[in-house]
Amino acid sequence: MAISTHRCGEKKVAGVPKALRILSVEQRAELRSELLEVVEYRKSGLSLNHVIGCPLDCGYCVRHLFDNFEMRVPRALMSDEAAVKLLVGHRFFEPHVTPVQVFNRATDPMLPSVKPHTFATLRLLDGRGLTNHVLVITRWRVTAEDCAVLNSLRHLKVTLLVTWSGIDDERIEPVDSGIAAGSLRTAFEHARRYRVVLYWRPIVPGLNDSDHHITTAMDLTRYAHATVFTGLFYKAQIRDYYREHGLPEPYVDGARRKILPREVERRILTAAAQGRAGSALFRKTSCAVAAAHALPDYNGHVGIRELCDICPASQLQRCSTAWTTPDPGHVAAMTAELGGTLIEITDQAVVVDGLDEQRRYRMQHHLGYQVHDLSKPHHPHRHGRADTGWTDTHEEVKVTS
Ligand code: SF4
Repeated sequence: MAISTHRCGEKKVAGVPKALRILSVEQRAELRSELLEVVEYRKSGLSLNHVIGCPLDCGYCVRHLFDNFEMRVPRALMSDEAAVKLLVGHRFFEPHVTPVQVFNRATDPMLPSVKPHTFATLRLLDGRGLTNHVLVITRWRVTAEDCAVLNSLRHLKVTLLVTWSGIDDERIEPVDSGIAAGSLRTAFEHARRYRVVLYWRPIVPGLNDSDHHITTAMDLTRYAHATVFTGLFYKAQIRDYYREHGLPEPYVDGARRKILPREVERRILTAAAQGRAGSALFRKTSCAVAAAHALPDYNGHVGIRELCDICPASQLQRCSTAWTTPDPGHVAAMTAELGGTLIEITDQAVVVDGLDEQRRYRMQHHLGYQVHDLSKPHHPHRHGRADTGWTDTHEEVKVTS
């Protein structure tokens, strides 16, 4: 029987992709410990990552943060069954409530060798009757057959987020953005039970913010139930990669949060205000995901009302109706149980001290109310973004074009 090995690690036998090989104990020992933690809480949901490795080589990939960028052939850390058990047994997982993300840290879920694991994982979760949000983020090919699988899921609220940037500098993004554009159209055309979000990112001044890029993106918004636009995570490790490879550096310094300069946002929102967007634009991923399903945002962003000034009135109404100040006794007990201290509950957010990001997200998703860290304040009008590009003088932005 003919066996062929593809660049992305897929072994095909008579056209049927085989399960990925599970890493040996010795191979696991060479990985950073964070990569072995297959369940990790991130802002958009509890993230399951039992497959790692990606050949797509995006220069800004978060795999730089895990020293994993060189691992180009996807490999499994465990079986899908074991991974799903870990996820639903995780101390922060709440059935029907906790949003879940599958393979959003160290691989692309639609790579040919990864896709069988993506679908198996979704089927296992769906088979348990869970109705949680599940986010699947890809920039790779999506076929009509893939869409049929997603439509066959009966309980989960699945959102396929298709990442498109329009970056044509192959040193930064070797994958042709046309692949994502094609996937978006296919996914949208076939969507019945799942929803499609255009994930327009990372938008970087001088690289992919030309009028032409904005026009192309506006055209693509027609093939999505909702659109998110966002900037670049320019963390120190990613900046180092840019420097080592002589890539044009978009900003002077790295940042803890995503960077999206005010002027870029203004131009995008102006285009949308001219009626050029075919679906509503959102600043936050969870807002777009929720809106695509006609549900209130699960991160309670409506407490930060300035984020909502671009939101359709019907969605603002939905979020406002669902949003209630949580009971102080319940919040204090939950904070203490997680090991922190409740400082106050404002009309925007619960403020806590001593809880790391993962614990704060656990609270935030449970409460549907923002949970902020006392030591990391959000500045007005730039919630969840780096300060870069939002000073009055704009001098922090170094445009490289
Ligand atoms: S109303 Fe505000 S919180 Fe709700 S989806 Fe819109 S932007 Fe997000």
